[in-house]
Amino acid sequence: MQLLDLRGSLDARTQAFFRHRRIGPDRTLLTNLEGQWLVLDDEDFRRFATGATEGTPVHERLRAKNFLRDGYDEAKARETIAARKRFLGYGPNLHVMVVTLRCNETCVYCHASRADMDAVETDMSKETAERSVDLAFQSTSPAITIEFQGGEPLVNFEVVQHIIAYAEEKNRTAGKTLEFTMVSNLALMTEERLAYLLDHRVQICTSIDGPKAIHDKQRKLPTMSAFDEATVWIKRINEAYRARGLDPSLYHVEALLTTTRAALDAPEAIVDTYEELGCHAVFLRPLDPFGFAGKTAKMVEYERRRYLDFYARATDYILEKNRAGVQMIERYAAIFLTKILRGEDPNFLDIRSPAGAGIGQLAYSYDGNVYTCDEGRMLAAQGDDTFRLGHVDESRYRDIVGHPTVRAMVIASNLDSQPDCVACTYNPYCGIQTTHNHKTQGSVFGRMRESNICAVHKGIQDYLFNKLADGEPHVLEAFERWTTIRAREHFLHAPAGS
Ligand code: SF4
Ligand code: SF4
Repeated sequence: MQLLDLRGSLDARTQAFFRHRRIGPDRTLLTNLEGQWLVLDDEDFRRFATGATEGTPVHERLRAKNFLRDGYDEAKARETIAARKRFLGYGPNLHVMVVTLRCNETCVYCHASRADMDAVETDMSKETAERSVDLAFQSTSPAITIEFQGGEPLVNFEVVQHIIAYAEEKNRTAGKTLEFTMVSNLALMTEERLAYLLDHRVQICTSIDGPKAIHDKQRKLPTMSAFDEATVWIKRINEAYRARGLDPSLYHVEALLTTTRAALDAPEAIVDTYEELGCHAVFLRPLDPFGFAGKTAKMVEYERRRYLDFYARATDYILEKNRAGVQMIERYAAIFLTKILRGEDPNFLDIRSPAGAGIGQLAYSYDGNVYTCDEGRMLAAQGDDTFRLGHVDESRYRDIVGHPTVRAMVIASNLDSQPDCVACTYNPYCGIQTTHNHKTQGSVFGRMRESNICAVHKGIQDYLFNKLADGEPHVLEAFERWTTIRAREHFLHAPAGS
């Protein structure tokens, strides 16, 4: 991309604080401290950079977005930043409970380092489950989400039920807004279990890696197709939601994609699969380096440049479907766009500053060890205890959330103290993952210019801002819809008395 040559003509006396990035030929993106943005053509950017906007139409556009020193609205900037950082006022709201490491599937990239089905010593006991819930309820957050993870949580369903009953009972006096989520491959679902999960309003989330051939290549069951098992239940669960009178556009199984090398050439087929299954959201997540994915990288990994091509093709295809009346969003885009277009933070814990590890989430392993986050316990499963904060039998809540490791992660994931992020145009909307830095670069601080996560975040935001600058009406309309958050109140266990 050609750079503008402004040598000798810059004048820095009229602009308020701004960052800028060339995002296309004749396009420069400006953002400011509070996350307002403008895309300027070369002529307007030259005027801006040389302090010569007075009397031209761009002057008012710049002033309205707080890019000019003259008339800078400090109160508005403060308010906007406070609104974006509202999440800092709460404690951990996501509590990941690893009820077992046992799993019936064998996925090539398993991030959780699954254990065989006879490894009963990796099941969480009821006592450990109760102590984990006790600790979770000490969070200062008024809302608590308990997320069942594994291995496969349905393998230790008795403890899942015990946690739900114990948490519901505890909440009669705690009065928090309580939610339950289960991440499952669904192969061990039964009608009886489903009825229980529906009665207790547990959100169900699964993995679909693409059409059957791609999914079954990565995710294997001993004698049957993992894709068939998962999709039968997705359809059945969605039908059960409808039978209970719940709006299918809001209530449906959430499915997550793990993008492996095999998926890169099939973005359209993947989106079609999600549509056929009645999924209204696709989360085009790249592969993480945790668990077995480290060992199988030669088979499943790829350059992030290729991922970004895949991302653009898949998202373009979703936008075309939107134009044809299909309801579907891409979750990565929705997270960034909520910050870009609405000035709000959807509190996605890995894309916020500082990130949520230890202050937005905690993970409780089957043996009672407590970690900063799900990825922290994944690393522990491979012998790296860096992110262990304590144990449910002996640690106090204050010691867990005030642990030196949590403090280090908060500092490292604060984008205003990250060497590259501090000057990056995407600073107001972005976030980094300290566990990823630690695993791939040997330090929680990492080096963003060599980080895969940074490459993905930069590439996606380049894509989104170019779409916004293109201004195609159906795209702008779709983006507005993607950022409209409709609360799924059926899943909320409201505080007692409300
Ligand atoms: S990714 Fe999930 S379903 Fe697959 S082997 Fe690991 S724990 Fe089991
Ligand atoms: S992670 Fe990368 S894209 Fe995000 S703010 Fe930092 S430097 Fe920018």
